[in-house]
Amino acid sequence: MKVSILSGIFLSAMAVHSFAADNAIFSYKVGRIEVHMLVENQGPGNTSILINPDRAALDRYIPGGTYTSEVNTFLVKTPDRIILVDTGFGRALFDSMKTLGVEPAQVDAVLLTHLHGDHIGGLERDDKALFPKAKVYLAQQEKDYWIKPGTGNSAAKALAPYGSRVETFRPGELGAAIADLLPGIKAIAAFGHTPGHTVFMLESDGKRLLIWGDLMHAELIQFPVPDQSVSYDTDPLAAAAIRRRILAYVAQNNIPVAGMHLVYPAIGTVTAAGNGYRFTQAE
Ligand SMILES: [Zn+2]
Repeated sequence: MKVSILSGIFLSAMAVHSFAADNAIFSYKVGRIEVHMLVENQGPGNTSILINPDRAALDRYIPGGTYTSEVNTFLVKTPDRIILVDTGFGRALFDSMKTLGVEPAQVDAVLLTHLHGDHIGGLERDDKALFPKAKVYLAQQEKDYWIKPGTGNSAAKALAPYGSRVETFRPGELGAAIADLLPGIKAIAAFGHTPGHTVFMLESDGKRLLIWGDLMHAELIQFPVPDQSVSYDTDPLAAAAIRRRILAYVAQNNIPVAGMHLVYPAIGTVTAAGNGYRFTQAE
């Protein structure tokens, strides 16, 4: 289901890949769970992030040499909780939440896919937690990689104001029986982009949605050529391997996906096509 709050003018502009989608919201239902995709930022992407791209594939899938690059966050309302999945840069997010009538203090939980700056930028300002009541959940492996005792960095600074409200978990294996992290939400390992990169499966009334974080950065080429990794990937080979596994899994099981760097509406379905996959955006 699509409940768009965009104007018709904006929607028609999207069709030609306008770069003016900051603050755009796309709303979607997963059973009794409401998912609001919040565009944090949109702009032209550069193919220089692609590691050793195949020239022919590049000419075929990104003929102009540029593509739409987006940063998104997701506001998830389950029957008993208000949850954010990542926080973007922490800019448009707060305006979009206001549009949806959600105060930062109402957020019960922030789930982090990983600790890159475009995912944790909304956690704190001036060493104060911007979600004063939220618990912050992240993979133990991700925390161990970025947060070293005695050394500060932006990841440590982002988590510090949450103190004992930071909770770590060990994500489960794709396809295995996994206990819920929160009711209706499972954390699944997708290591490669970063050592603890985690994707979240939402499930309600038999419907599912996989919010897959940074499994992809340049969808135009990475759906048809899933082995294409990017320079942001800590382990490009592992990133490609888990991308292939997850794409196969969601295609076989008809599970819609959502991504932090997919382009508005950033939610859709995946089908096998040749040696790769095709993405169909949700409506
Ligand atoms: Zn990212």
